[in-house]
Amino acid sequence: MYPSRFHYEAPRSLDEAFGVLQAYGDEAKVLAGGQSLIPLIKLRFSAPAVIVDINNIPGLDYHDEDTDGSLDIGALCRHRTLERSPLLRSRHPTMSRCAPLIADPMVRSRGTLVGSLCHADPQGDWASVMLALGGEIIARSARGERAIPVSQFVIGPFQNSLQVGEIAVRARVPAPRGTRSGTYLKLERRVGDFATVGVAVALETSGATINRAGIALTGVGSNNIQCTAAEQALAGKTLNPSTIEQAAALAAEAAQPKSDVRGSAEYKRHIVYTFVARALGNRQAMAA
Ligand SMILES: Cc1cc2nc3c(=O)[nH]c(=O)nc-3n(C[C@H](O)[C@H](O)[C@H](O)COP(=O)(O)OP(=O)(O)OC[C@H]3O[C@@H](n4cnc5c(N)ncnc54)[C@H](O)[C@@H]3O)c2cc1C
Repeated sequence: MYPSRFHYEAPRSLDEAFGVLQAYGDEAKVLAGGQSLIPLIKLRFSAPAVIVDINNIPGLDYHDEDTDGSLDIGALCRHRTLERSPLLRSRHPTMSRCAPLIADPMVRSRGTLVGSLCHADPQGDWASVMLALGGEIIARSARGERAIPVSQFVIGPFQNSLQVGEIAVRARVPAPRGTRSGTYLKLERRVGDFATVGVAVALETSGATINRAGIALTGVGSNNIQCTAAEQALAGKTLNPSTIEQAAALAAEAAQPKSDVRGSAEYKRHIVYTFVARALGNRQAMAA
């Protein structure tokens, strides 16, 4: 199907982009990697009057760590860059294990982590990773900049909390309290598919003690689900068969799966339990 007619703008600076967004209000849509927006437009599920392509704006395609250990991911940093990143491989294991599991190489070469968070697909993998890591989105507009925790950024299926005129300029992962470890486990029907179930686990530890635990789920609810009770059950504890079993059971309880072509609700809940227990039970596989 052909998309409906739209006006195309390709600003060369953020200020220019803010001007266009201001002029067109909620008639305008930002285009980053286009891997979700273009299919939606072609299927006519979305019909923006104006597309604001941010790909010509310099300074948005980066990911780097601050001296305090926090990580910034610019709005044009592609999945593929994150998949290949030595920085992620050595210091951000939950992210580096998730990146190669997103879609296929073609989608990964264009799509962006920030675009994925903005798109807020309940089956998007990055939102779970960012929830587990306590990440936030930095939104900027002509009015200034604000930080929004990912838990408050994704507010519904395909809904984010950006205001009219705002662009998500980067995502931010806070510095860990201690040593970071973690993983992302994804059950998919075939390579490149969206998740039947995805589980993000992120731990921050001092020795054997867990300072902070992050666990979040993909594909088993109307949004990515943060497993707060499971996280709290692990905080201040050490990993042993009893704490692992308790966290896995609480995560399975937090899931809200629906039966569909990918599997029954019961099966998906069981996979959540199994993945959380498997991740926590294999510290070696979670190490950076
Ligand atoms: C075949 C296929 C398979 C896929 N499989 C997976 C998968 O397994 N797992 C997964 O997680 N994803 C998957 N995706 C989605 C993919 O990860 C997309 O790249 C991602 O969802 C959107 O990123 P994008 O940069 O392409 O955003 P775009 O398509 O450009 O934009 C998506 C939405 O976010 C908004 N937006 C984007 N960037 C910004 C910004 N900086 N500020 C404000 N608004 C913004 C747009 O206006 C639009 O509404 C798949 C996509 C395809 C086509």
